[in-house]
Amino acid sequence: MSVNESLAHNCYHPAGEPHIQLRENLSDEQILLLQKICPAGLFTPDSAGRVNVHFQGCLECGCCRLLAGSDALAGWQYPPSGAGLTLRFG
Ligand code: SF4
Repeated sequence: MSVNESLAHNCYHPAGEPHIQLRENLSDEQILLLQKICPAGLFTPDSAGRVNVHFQGCLECGCCRLLAGSDALAGWQYPPSGAGLTLRFG
């Protein structure tokens, strides 16, 4: 099973507001780091050079918070109760 097939088995209940906020004016290195470390591939730069985080597909692993840190992230918290990721096994 591919990674994308495996991720598609998860159940997502996106919150209304993002639980991850990025800082303004991230460097190219910070953007590249975020793209490399997110196992779900949720950080994508747009045509204006800004990076977006597609929080709806977040696996809540915390890698971006731990590795990119507060220099890149203005905020990270778990989604509110009832929202976020539900893992399915089997
Ligand atoms: S918590 Fe994990 S899955 Fe969610 S955006 Fe950060 S690195 Fe990606």
